[in-house]
Amino acid sequence: MYNKETYDVIVVGAGHAGSEAAGAAARLGAKTLLITMNLEAIAKMSCNPAMGGVAKGQLVREIDALGGLSGIVSDESSVQFRMLNRSKGPAMWSPRCQSDRMLYAQKMREKLESIPLLTFRQDNVVDLITEDFEVKGIVTQTGQKFFAKSVVLTSGTFLNGLIHIGESNYGGGRSGERASVGISAALENLGFEIGRLKTGTPPRVDGRSVDYSKLEIQYGDDDASPFSFMTEGELPKAKDQLTCWIGYTNEQVHDVLRTGFDRSPMFNGRIKSIGPRYCPSIEDKINRFADKDRHQLFLEPEGWNTYEMYLNGFSTSLPEETQIEALRTIPGFENVVMIRPGYAIEYDYFPPHQVKRSLETKNVEGLFFAGQINGTTGYEEAACQGLMAGINAALKVQNKDPFVLKRSEAYIGVLIDDLINKGTEEPYRMFTSRAEHRILLRQDNADLRLTELGYKIGLATKERYEQYLQKKEEIDRLHTLVSKYTVRPEQMDPMLKKLGTSKLTQPVKAHTVLMRPEVNLQEMLLADDIFKSKVEAITSKKYVVEQVEIQVKYSGYIQKEYEMVDELSKKENSPIPEKIDYAKLKSLSTEGMVKLSKIRPETIGQASRISGVSASDVAVLMVYLKN
Ligand SMILES: Cc1cc2nc3c(=O)[nH]c(=O)nc-3n(C[C@H](O)[C@H](O)[C@H](O)COP(=O)(O)OP(=O)(O)OC[C@H]3O[C@@H](n4cnc5c(N)ncnc54)[C@H](O)[C@@H]3O)c2cc1C
Repeated sequence: MYNKETYDVIVVGAGHAGSEAAGAAARLGAKTLLITMNLEAIAKMSCNPAMGGVAKGQLVREIDALGGLSGIVSDESSVQFRMLNRSKGPAMWSPRCQSDRMLYAQKMREKLESIPLLTFRQDNVVDLITEDFEVKGIVTQTGQKFFAKSVVLTSGTFLNGLIHIGESNYGGGRSGERASVGISAALENLGFEIGRLKTGTPPRVDGRSVDYSKLEIQYGDDDASPFSFMTEGELPKAKDQLTCWIGYTNEQVHDVLRTGFDRSPMFNGRIKSIGPRYCPSIEDKINRFADKDRHQLFLEPEGWNTYEMYLNGFSTSLPEETQIEALRTIPGFENVVMIRPGYAIEYDYFPPHQVKRSLETKNVEGLFFAGQINGTTGYEEAACQGLMAGINAALKVQNKDPFVLKRSEAYIGVLIDDLINKGTEEPYRMFTSRAEHRILLRQDNADLRLTELGYKIGLATKERYEQYLQKKEEIDRLHTLVSKYTVRPEQMDPMLKKLGTSKLTQPVKAHTVLMRPEVNLQEMLLADDIFKSKVEAITSKKYVVEQVEIQVKYSGYIQKEYEMVDELSKKENSPIPEKIDYAKLKSLSTEGMVKLSKIRPETIGQASRISGVSASDVAVLMVYLKN
């Protein structure tokens, strides 16, 4: 019976990419099957129990603005909220939450189960069905076949996964779960280039065995902001959130760790793959930064109803006995009980120049890759690719154009563009520095940038869209008020003096005062009752006031950035025909010709960002296309 089951879209794997992919495809009207090895592990956080962070928080806000699920689920399962980088400019503000690992998985499952066109199945996919390089379906380990016009592979760290702890290693997709065998070979047979990467995770400890008096406490925000633009009402105050703790290693801890180096798979050559440079293991840190006498550690709760704690900053694959001995030399951890040892994992990935901007593979029509399989690391990076792949898998079935985000529209656009053009030889994570237009791509305006697009493709709900329109209208009206309303010296000067900025010499428009870095709108409203009542007549929402304030304060930079985007977009959007034979363009550099033939960019803008393609190669290409 199963052999006859046909779907529009099949999503393989229900991690962060798979959950978003399946949710998006089904909500866009595609009959979707989500098939995963373990239904109890939907959207499981393999590593730290946290969502967001620098640049990653922006990704979650973008997913939410488009109508994805990760933002809402993060809000519903958070145990602590913090806005990182508040002391820097708004382009750097990044929301982060500490999550209840089990609740996150449960909430994601609830959301997915409420989607009518989505069917679930627990099984292990071992092969793909293709015909003339077009995907037709998948085969499970028991030989069952399921058919679909689009298949999205989101297999995470599971493809030929190999777990290392000290000298022991064994096949596994992550701790307690087996590896996925079969898909890698099937893809290689279809001509895909394959690579291998590595990542690692720290030990988990029993919180009851920690002496917190020796650690620093870290509270959440009192005025916490949610991830989702749809989350209503106040979030819990800091006192009602869980706390995290900060501790430090010392020379003694480092000495103990060094005793395990000769049995470390990192140092004895057993692990050959490359791991994330910016997220090194503790052994890597003390080896590479030998002059540092201590490293910071964060002890983070795993949830509301468990004593298990995650030791952020202590990722390791040293032998278990070295791990526990080193842990017990950390101040506060003298009697610690280790619940799970840290480990490293090596897994297969497929270098991402093999996918298009839609995340459909170039080799096999209808086959999409999303998440760790594309060489990324992180839940947020995976989730946003899953969302895009799910959308595009559904659009493909419906014979609609792919949905692609530009670098100037979203971090999601930056991530996919980087992956497909620059490739990655180490696990790719998002940083704000990767985005050239980061002053435009702020977390606060993700809905203003993306909700309309999400609504047009049918993913963002009407309710979300109407809320966005309402917010936009309030912002516009408040903006107009701020640029037209006149404030007078006698009202503003006491406040300006208190803030240490010069007095006014004459009445001026409110926005000229607001542009001063020291001033904020709330203070201005306290100084002028009429201004305050006019603002209150427009909006009661903190985020509307904050948005106008950011737009006014940074208007100069924002304007300049838009001009640059305009300039670049002329070049960006010139299409390149798919079948162009670069070998015939004699004036191209050899490296340029090889890279262009391999990556086959879809636009001139994309071609210009491929490493190895020079400005003169781009000029040659432009002349050729013009002729
Ligand atoms: C040990 C470890 C350490 C990590 N450290 C970090 C870190 O420090 N920082 C960070 O940002 N990220 C880290 N990560 C990465 C993070 O977990 C992933 O980036 C993220 O979960 C990837 O999401 P994904 O959806 O691509 O895959 P996953 O979340 O891994 O989900 C893959 C899903 O696919 C299913 N699956 C796989 N193969 C098959 C098959 N053949 N048939 C059916 N189902 C299948 C699995 O059961 C699973 O549900 C770590 C991961 C691990 C395992």
